[in-house]
Amino acid sequence: MFKALLVDKTDGGVAATLRDLDDADLPEGDVTVVVDHSTVNYKDGLAVTGKGSIVRKYPMVPGIDFAGTVETSSHPDYKPGDAVVLNGWGVGESHWGGYAGKARVRGDWLVPLPQAFTPAQAMAIGTAGYTAMLAVLALEAHGVTPDAGDVIVTGASGGVGSVAVAILAKLGYRVLASTGRAAEADYLKGLGAAEIIDRKELSEPGRPLGKTRWAGGVDAVGSHTLANVLAATRHLGAVASCGLAQGMDLPASVAPFILRGVTLVGIDSVLAPKAKRLEAWARLADDLDVDKLETMTATVGLDEVPRVAKDVLAGKVRGRVVVDLGR
Ligand code: NDP
Repeated sequence: MFKALLVDKTDGGVAATLRDLDDADLPEGDVTVVVDHSTVNYKDGLAVTGKGSIVRKYPMVPGIDFAGTVETSSHPDYKPGDAVVLNGWGVGESHWGGYAGKARVRGDWLVPLPQAFTPAQAMAIGTAGYTAMLAVLALEAHGVTPDAGDVIVTGASGGVGSVAVAILAKLGYRVLASTGRAAEADYLKGLGAAEIIDRKELSEPGRPLGKTRWAGGVDAVGSHTLANVLAATRHLGAVASCGLAQGMDLPASVAPFILRGVTLVGIDSVLAPKAKRLEAWARLADDLDVDKLETMTATVGLDEVPRVAKDVLAGKVRGRVVVDLGR
């Protein structure tokens, strides 16, 4: 038997309860993993609280990512004892995920745990951090290098934002961190931010084009914030769009694209091809300081996930929250 957090429909919405499950309860898949750690991402917050339409079928074990050890495998790439990581692929949405002592998944969805990281560190990075790395790779691919000018990170105190700030600063970029939490200024400077921008400067409707302020950015927020980030991006700059913490809308104009050649790059971590995942994890091993990772991470047990899920949606969580299945 192993513990799992199961989310099921109720008359009034959904309820998340701790249950004891056994192997026979697990879904189909060619690899069974003993889960060491999972995390609470924004999407998990939506799934556990029943907000948004994240969960596609009930009952569901949420948890869009996990790190663990292969217990049984009929997949050619994995054998018992292998350390593995999973991000995305609809796990925790349409296939049972990481909030359980065991998970059964398709081996094609897994990547080997990078040697640089323990399972706990890999989940401190988690889907938020791996997405931040995908965004940095996108900026590089579009010519936004440290000598191109400043870069902005929005939603900077959140998971994607914190990891993006730390990576970009280590790579030598001058990072402007946009946050609604002035109290986190020292935290963000500790991660490497050169300047703090009050998110109010960006979150209201703005002009189609403004004075240029940065060469590019990583945006976890969407809506007016992304529109304003684009409007202040330099000629031939690029902005990676990762998230929708302010809103899913994009009330922008084409002016930055047709008058400044700005590129808006979409980041989708869920269905990213395996080669891109391996590249992102290899770069995380090189370009993210584990001591900075520690300053942005809190660890909880499975029983605390429902509380943390609410805090994530309320924008109260700083950095990353790891779920230790052994607690
Ligand atoms: P977090 O909740 O950790 O961070 C989001 C941050 O956004 C908050 O910390 C806050 O930062 C800021 N924020 C919250 N509400 C608002 C608001 N109303 N207006 C402006 N800013 C706000 O979430 P994650 O970092 O894990 O995820 C960020 C986004 O990225 C989410 O929308 C998530 O769904 C998405 N995402 C997308 C992925 C992809 O594949 N594209 C993968 C992973 C995440 P601060 O307090 O500093 O202002």
